[in-house]
Amino acid sequence: MRRNLVVGNWKMKINQQSAQKLIGEIIAGLPSEDADIVVCPPYVYIPEVSQRLEGTTIGLGAQNVATHSEGAYTGEIAAVMLKDFSCKYAIVGHSERRANYADTDETVAQRFKQALDADIIPVLAIGELLEEREQGVTFDVVAKQLNAVIDFAGIDSFQNAVIAYEPVWAIGTGLTASAEQAQEVHQYIRQLLAGKNQQIAEKIQILYGGSVKPQNAQALFAMPDIDGALVGGDSLNADSFLKIYSSFQK
Ligand code: PEP
Repeated sequence: MRRNLVVGNWKMKINQQSAQKLIGEIIAGLPSEDADIVVCPPYVYIPEVSQRLEGTTIGLGAQNVATHSEGAYTGEIAAVMLKDFSCKYAIVGHSERRANYADTDETVAQRFKQALDADIIPVLAIGELLEEREQGVTFDVVAKQLNAVIDFAGIDSFQNAVIAYEPVWAIGTGLTASAEQAQEVHQYIRQLLAGKNQQIAEKIQILYGGSVKPQNAQALFAMPDIDGALVGGDSLNADSFLKIYSSFQK
């Protein structure tokens, strides 16, 4: 049986003081059982959040990772550097990076592989734009994004990966895909993987992302192919984030 996972993406919406406060509140509020919960601070706060998380079961993630392991790549952070600070996860292919920083299916695939090579679990974000949904090509879009990574890194690499289905029109907009809309795409993604490797398809966690809140988490969680959430806005409030986490516990 798959365990549910809740990942918080703090984006660039936090400073040193608020990051310390937030992580303190999450640690204090988390039930003591083994937690499948991850926070992804901005790079510069990773060392101190990493320290705070020592001795807890909260995982640490990065919001991105470089396409190469070392070299003349000014401003980039390699996966091996993140590993030095006990990062267990890295988001790759977030729509904000695809839209604003020219990430392509190819560079996302490179980032995915870099993370894996450094023993970091990539959280591969895929999802359609509003116009693509309206044109009825949602499945084609997610298949293209996913197949690009499968072709580059191989299906076996998904043994140690997480997928986040994030319809772009639902990110930071307050619009959420209905639980049924999300389930339909999650099921499609799982079937696509099953066509290549049944065991991986059954095991892989597919998270939903896009304005997840305590009010809609329960309905999403009830869907058979939704195994957790990637949360932006509501991960910046410990109370909301922990409520979402609790909704996703089986
Ligand atoms: C995200 O950043 O991946 C995200 C889903 O953001 P929000 O929850 O704010 O829509």
